[in-house]
Amino acid sequence: MLFKKRNFRRRVSISREAMDGIISYSKIRHPNEAILIVKGKSRDGHIMVDGLVIPPFSHSGPTFAGFPHSFLPFDMSYVGTVHSHPGGTAEPSVTDLNNFFGLVSLIIKWPYRDQDIFAWNSKGDGIELSIG
Ligand SMILES: [Zn+2]
Repeated sequence: MLFKKRNFRRRVSISREAMDGIISYSKIRHPNEAILIVKGKSRDGHIMVDGLVIPPFSHSGPTFAGFPHSFLPFDMSYVGTVHSHPGGTAEPSVTDLNNFFGLVSLIIKWPYRDQDIFAWNSKGDGIELSIG
């Protein structure tokens, strides 16, 4: 068998500008949830986030933020979403996992500092994350 096994260690990095955008948008929306599409690149399991898009027709409240995926244009630079949890933890909820979009789900919890953001895959497992 000639399978070349590549062990991708999935990780996420967020540019400083994108991180600052996530922080300010979450603060503006507080105490409601904020949701944004994250743009960037993915190579060999390394997801690089360097831009944000406000999703069309987004709706949000204190416990759920979402948008209809069918309205999204097909865009390879959309690598996932980020949303805020104004209360509680940065763990993904069942609703979050059911609405998973792209490669990564970033969740930032109150009070929205660098150390309050976490990255998750579609199974709800944590992914290593760095900023800058
Ligand atoms: Zn959530």
